[in-house]
Amino acid sequence: MTDSPIRVAVIGSGPAGFYAAGHLLKDGAGGHSINFEVDMLERLPTPWGLVRSGVAPDHPKIKSVTRIYEKTAAHPRFRFFGNVCFGEHVSREELLSHYHAIVYATGTPVDRPLGIPGEELPGSHAATEFVGWYNGHPDHTDLEVDLRSAERAVVIGNGNVAIDVARMLVLAPSELAPTDTADHALEVLAESHVKEVVIVGRRGPAQAAFTNPELLELGELADADVIVDPAELDRALAVHDSGAEENITSRRNVEILRSYAERPPYGRAKRIVLRFLLSPTALLPGDSGHLGTVELARNELIADQTDPAHPQLRARATGEQETIPAGLVFRAIGYRGVPLPGVPHDARRGVIPNEGGRVLGAPEGSGDGEGARPQAGGRLRGEYTVGWIKRGPSGVIGTNKKDAQETVDAIFADAASDGEGLNVPASPDGAAIERLLRERQPELVTYDGWASIDRHERSLGESTGRPRVKLTRIDEMLRVAADEN
Ligand code: NAP
Repeated sequence: MTDSPIRVAVIGSGPAGFYAAGHLLKDGAGGHSINFEVDMLERLPTPWGLVRSGVAPDHPKIKSVTRIYEKTAAHPRFRFFGNVCFGEHVSREELLSHYHAIVYATGTPVDRPLGIPGEELPGSHAATEFVGWYNGHPDHTDLEVDLRSAERAVVIGNGNVAIDVARMLVLAPSELAPTDTADHALEVLAESHVKEVVIVGRRGPAQAAFTNPELLELGELADADVIVDPAELDRALAVHDSGAEENITSRRNVEILRSYAERPPYGRAKRIVLRFLLSPTALLPGDSGHLGTVELARNELIADQTDPAHPQLRARATGEQETIPAGLVFRAIGYRGVPLPGVPHDARRGVIPNEGGRVLGAPEGSGDGEGARPQAGGRLRGEYTVGWIKRGPSGVIGTNKKDAQETVDAIFADAASDGEGLNVPASPDGAAIERLLRERQPELVTYDGWASIDRHERSLGESTGRPRVKLTRIDEMLRVAADEN
């Protein structure tokens, strides 16, 4: 390869995008002396993806990972172009005429639906929207969450998002006060009448996707008891699961749940109830047309031999039913990626098809990613992916570091193969792409613009002892960013 820099566009500024940028910009990384230049394009005026808009506000330590990303952003060969939407302000083809590589790091922004009747009733929400709403994501600022009309909420799913949602619904005002929860959510949460949150898993405690610290935290809340029925726990644990038995997290989850089942309630004002072996089958309206009842099928666990290498226990309906009166339902059964214009998309898995981070042509018959031209071997030259849109929505923030390294190693290898593996841009000129982006989006937000938003939000938080008061509307953000842009 020549001495001229290799120019990379990273699409999306969440953890995966920042880890990829950081790996690319590390001196001497990959054992070569190629200079990489990274431009990061982000749809919002603000960076950090789910660290800003997904991590629960009462988990500030997890959010402090942004200090690492700030170091990457300060690198002289890094630029941030916020408020720029891939596919709207600039196309894949245009980026390929300016960059040697594109790294798609757009995450999995939408919820997976339950696919049951009544899912659209008022009072039924996707966890993705609710999480975005309390975290001040501008897409969800106007979400109407009625916490005054319901005393019971049901959260579907046994993952950490379900735990986050349940916890946020019962946090005491004193626990919420020092957080960066969006002001609009603080107002609604302060008036909440929700007294009980039922977390429903379709399988048992040994199969739950919770991690141990998150499950333990439920037992330490100031205002809420955690309730587990010992008989239901025993029933759900009656079928032996060798996979769960070998998994240290699952074993510890079961111990924690047993301790909850054994301990008498402290008599706190609110409760979180953990239920198992139940699948919602319908959401039924109450008198007002608002959600009134969740109808559920009782399940049993059976062996699933579909993949003999990974035997699993699967939930099967027993034919018995149960109903839970509830004015609110949050479905927290996982996230899903959305197709990017012109980029291959595996609709079944909700990810960009790839091999170790190298983007592959659209799967046959998918109809997605038209215009994306697979080259020999099915690879799209110079196109890569990282994070949840690469592997699906699993793992914690740190998982993306290793995941991004795999992709960046592929870029290093392709760059080292005498330029064979990378794209050959017609105009690898940093000034030209910036001119084009500014022409298409005059309100482009640079990293200095974000720094201005950051300072503003932090200063708003200072008087009340909060880390920040988030701006939740794009126009407000742009006004503040304009001081620096
Ligand atoms: P997840 O961990 O994949 O959990 C999804 C849950 O939904 C599983 O219990 C799954 O049950 C259930 N489910 C799926 N389809 C269902 C259906 N049709 N009906 C009923 N239940 C269904 O997903 P997540 O909670 O969205 O979390 C995503 C990732 O972010 C995870 O890796 C999580 O650990 C991470 N995260 C971490 C934190 C933290 O560290 N504090 C916070 C939030 C999220 P089955 O197992 O039966 O499929």
